[in-house]
Amino acid sequence: MYAQVIVDIAHSQVDRVFEYSCPPETEVGCRVKVPFGGRVLEGFVIGLSETPSFAAEKIKPVYEVYDEQPALVPECFSLMNFIAARYRVPKAASLRLFIPSEMRLGKVSEVYKKYIRLTGREGGIRPSAKKQLAAMEELKGGDREFTPFCLKYSRSAVNALVEKGVAEVYKVRRNRTPIPEGEEAERGRSLTPAQRQAVEYIESSEKRVHLIHGVTGSGKTEIYLTLIARRLAEGKSSIFLVPEISLTPQMLSQLRRRFGSQAAILHSGLSAGERFDEWWRLRSGEAKIAIGARSAIFAPLENLGVIIIDEEHDTSYNSETAPRYSTIEIAKKRAEYNGCKLVLGSATPSVESYIEASEGRYGLVTLTERINGKPLPEIVIADMRRELKRGNPSNISRALRAELEGALSSGNQAIIFLNRRGYSQTVICTDCGYVAKCENCDVSLTYHSEENCLKCHYCGARYHTLSACPECGGRHLRYSGTGTQRVVAEIKELFPSSRILRMDNDTVSGKDGHYKILKRFSDREADILVGTQMIAKGHDFPSVTLVGILDADMSLHFSDYRSGERTFQLITQVAGRSGRAGAKGKVVLQTYSPDNYILRFAVSYDYRGFFENEVKMRKAALFPPYSLICRVMVVADEDGAAIEALKTAYFAVEELRAANSDEFIFLNKMHSPIKKIQGKVRYQVLMRLRTDRLLPRIYDIAAGASSPAVLVYVEENPVNLS
Ligand code: ADP
Ligand code: ZN
Repeated sequence: MYAQVIVDIAHSQVDRVFEYSCPPETEVGCRVKVPFGGRVLEGFVIGLSETPSFAAEKIKPVYEVYDEQPALVPECFSLMNFIAARYRVPKAASLRLFIPSEMRLGKVSEVYKKYIRLTGREGGIRPSAKKQLAAMEELKGGDREFTPFCLKYSRSAVNALVEKGVAEVYKVRRNRTPIPEGEEAERGRSLTPAQRQAVEYIESSEKRVHLIHGVTGSGKTEIYLTLIARRLAEGKSSIFLVPEISLTPQMLSQLRRRFGSQAAILHSGLSAGERFDEWWRLRSGEAKIAIGARSAIFAPLENLGVIIIDEEHDTSYNSETAPRYSTIEIAKKRAEYNGCKLVLGSATPSVESYIEASEGRYGLVTLTERINGKPLPEIVIADMRRELKRGNPSNISRALRAELEGALSSGNQAIIFLNRRGYSQTVICTDCGYVAKCENCDVSLTYHSEENCLKCHYCGARYHTLSACPECGGRHLRYSGTGTQRVVAEIKELFPSSRILRMDNDTVSGKDGHYKILKRFSDREADILVGTQMIAKGHDFPSVTLVGILDADMSLHFSDYRSGERTFQLITQVAGRSGRAGAKGKVVLQTYSPDNYILRFAVSYDYRGFFENEVKMRKAALFPPYSLICRVMVVADEDGAAIEALKTAYFAVEELRAANSDEFIFLNKMHSPIKKIQGKVRYQVLMRLRTDRLLPRIYDIAAGASSPAVLVYVEENPVNLS
């Protein structure tokens, strides 16, 4: 037999299929060990043949077949071709997406637990072999775990039994993620009429993709679970994606209660071994529901019955490392391959998805009411310009202060949101204008009061605090801008007896970091939770009746065409944390631009209004999806090589423009907004194109300008233009 193998080195020069002779048990999809250019590497078998395609004596043999069951499902090969062509990466790099990193290069060991049992055959054991006889005697009482058994009777005695054919060793896959005890199984709830209608519509519609636009608390999750349960009853598998799984512990325990060991959870909080085991449970068919963040779209499931993407607008669904794939795009491919539905859900769908739905290419389900009939919380605007004028320089408006007082005195909880961590954002010398910056990153440093240091939020570097300006020696340093630490200090001053928890990248660490803080808050160990956007996502805290949004306009002033959309989404999502159960919720939105139309739409929960306005603007100004923003990034250790590559790329794009001038709306080359990150210089060719017709050519140009010293890559409608 001969195997067609993709060798696991992601290098464009070896991006082809190699042939090896292989043992008869080799299957398509298995990982193998093969000799390659003087080394021994891992590879994936993507095809088998009876006869070699060239002189058999020149063909090298596969050294070892790793998998008893092929690690790759057949669908991988069609996705591999799609991903390699679409995002211009070597086939090996696209196959890697399907294999947990801990499985590659044999990083996880001890996958199996070995057991020993009797075969029933006689083996002629001498009466003097006391240990062998005793061991055999014990095995008559049942199978034993191999390693302790060897320790008890000695390795040689046990081996002798096996050699004589009296006993045999077998392996059972270990499972490191037992279902937690004490979580009671939960049956499906009976659906509300709106939920039932939604399910029936999705099930009966011809359309492949459906968008559920449902306000927070409208019961979208129950619709997802019903769809999953129905597919499960048909023997089909499901993928359920959430933006960041460690942020949604409630969702996880709900899924475990409902589906038990049928659900496998793939998330970064698991240890390598646990993740590996969950992965194999899916691959072996033992578990049929994969739950996880972005990368779970590559779950090794066959016979998919439905794919669900919750909070579909979330930017984490776009990969920011190669291959820079869009999860929704991959999900559409998988849905097509399996002939199943793709369901996207959000309280604030992305403008792109809502256009698809409103123009009839996606099915649309709209849920306008919360399940418990509770109104959405009232959002009031606090005009921070007026606060300043009236002599309140603090970060807490009088309105918010009054509401906090009310919430605390009635025994309720509050969430205070702002998008910046640390104490204050920048350190400025008021004499010369010097701003403290990171040496590696060209971004300003943030003061952290607890550690009394300056930190770079891009690379994590720490610096001593300054007592004098390093430029002019002046001593008038001002700490400006507000972060979570400062807000905590201010609230503490206003309400000395309140108990406050802070949740941001500084307080969250370790495997269960998020979960622990959220758990403490939900156990009411604190009255107020202050945090960055990580608290905006789907938590359900019944006693939260107040949400304060401190810097609502912050993202409005980004020079990104999506800043309005993101502000609207953020406000709606954060507001959705208030008043979910008991008392009526309230939201105080602090802003310096109270008349901004985005805030106006958000305050009245007017998604349609926001959407129509946004579409009108984007059409007129030719922004995505009515155009394509494309950035060729050039990243290198030093300027010389980077500028060389930038020129190569830019001239090639200019040539392309000369031949296709009507496709280009805009073209420029420059430093990236952040000129340096982690010591690497960054340049870009930025363009706006009318369609994606030239996109493959741009990918070619980037590949051509790339070299070992310079990384050149393409971003489409990048989420982050820094
Ligand atoms: P969403 O995902 O749209 O924000 P959830 O799925 O979290 O909404 O539902 C909001 C609340 O309503 C949750 O507490 C959930 O347990 C409850 N709920 C959902 N569906 C039902 C139902 N059919 N009957 C009773 N309660 C429900
Ligand atoms: Zn830095």
